[in-house]
Amino acid sequence: MKNPIIVFENFSFQYRAQKQPTLKNINLTIYEGEKVLIVGPSGSGKSTLAHCINGLVPFYYEGEISGSLKIRGKETKQMSIFELSHQVGTVLQDSDSQFIGLTVGEDIAFKLENECIAQKMMREKVEAVSKLVDIHSHLEDGPHDLSGGQKQRVTLAGAMVGGGDILLFDEPLASLDPATGKTAIELIDRLQSEGHKTIIIVEHRLEDVLHCDVDRVIVVSEGEIVKDEKPAELLALDILSQVGIREPLYITALKYAGCKIIPETSIAHVETLKISDYKTQMIKWLEEIMEEKQQKMGSPLLTFEKVRFAYAEQKEILHGISFEVNRGEMIS
Ligand code: ADP
Ligand code: MG
Repeated sequence: MKNPIIVFENFSFQYRAQKQPTLKNINLTIYEGEKVLIVGPSGSGKSTLAHCINGLVPFYYEGEISGSLKIRGKETKQMSIFELSHQVGTVLQDSDSQFIGLTVGEDIAFKLENECIAQKMMREKVEAVSKLVDIHSHLEDGPHDLSGGQKQRVTLAGAMVGGGDILLFDEPLASLDPATGKTAIELIDRLQSEGHKTIIIVEHRLEDVLHCDVDRVIVVSEGEIVKDEKPAELLALDILSQVGIREPLYITALKYAGCKIIPETSIAHVETLKISDYKTQMIKWLEEIMEEKQQKMGSPLLTFEKVRFAYAEQKEILHGISFEVNRGEMIS
C-alpha cells in the first residue's frame, strides 16, 4: 500500500460562530497519488473539510479543533498557513476571487515572487506549469478577460507552481458549462497521472466528475463521513439518494427498471457499462409497461376521428386529425 499523506483521526471542528460542531469525528486517510472525490449535499461540511486541509480552517475561519489531522506525518495545528500552502495547492470555486496579478503570467508567478525566486527561474517555472495546464498562449492577457474554463486553468497553474504534492479543488465545475467541465475533469486526471499529484475534488456533480476515474468517493452528510467506497461499489448502494446526491441518470434508470446494480459491470462509466447483465430485466420491465399502456388504451376519454376545421371557407386549418386521450395519461 502507498504512504498515507493526509490522516484525520477523531477530528472535529466547531466554527466560533456556531453552537454545534460542523465536522464530527472524522476518520479519513488519503494516500499519496490518490484521486479522491468528496461528495455531499449543500451545507454538509465539504468545504469546511477541505479548508482544514489547506489551513483556511482554523487560520482564516476560526474555531475549535479536537482530534488530530496530520499531513505527511506532521500535525497541522503545529504548522503555519504558510507552511501548509507549500504542501497544498487550492483551486476555489470562484476563480475571480483568487486573482492577484494584472496579467496571467504575473498571477501564476505570485507565489514564486513571495519566495524571492530569481527572475530567470521564475519565468521557466511559469512557462512549464502554464504549458501543463494549456494556458501558455494567454500569459500576457488580463485574467479577468478570459473565459470561465481559462480562468480556472490560471488558478490551477498558480496552485501548482509552488510544487506542493496535494491539489485541492472545491467545486471545480460550479461555474463551467458541461463541455468545459469535462475538459477540466480530464485535465485534473492528467495532473494526477503525469504530475504525480494527490488530488482531492469536492463536488456535488457526481456524474460529471466520474467522467474520469477516481480511486474513492467519500460521502459527507451533516458533518460526518457516512461512506468511503470505490465508485462502482458506491453506485450499487442507495446511500447517494438517501443523503440527497443525484446519482448518474443511467443508474437511476436501471434501478427504476428494477435492475439490481452489479459493481462488476463497469458501472462507473456509462460508455463502458456491460449492459448484457441487465438485459433480461430491462426487457421484462419494458413488456410490463407496454401491457400497462395497452390497458390504459382501452378506456379513451377523448377521441378525435378525422377532424377537419376551417374558420373561413377555402382555408382549412385542421386537416383530418385523429388521436385519443386515455384516462391517466399526461400528454403535451
Ligand atoms: P458545503 O461545502 O458542504 O456546502 P460548508 O462546509 O460550506 O458546506 O458548510 C457547512 C456548515 O458550516 C454550514 O452549516 C455553514 O453554515 C457552516 N459554516 C460554513 N462556513 C462558516 C463560517 N465561516 N462561520 C460559521 N459557520 C460556517
Ligand atoms: Mg462548499
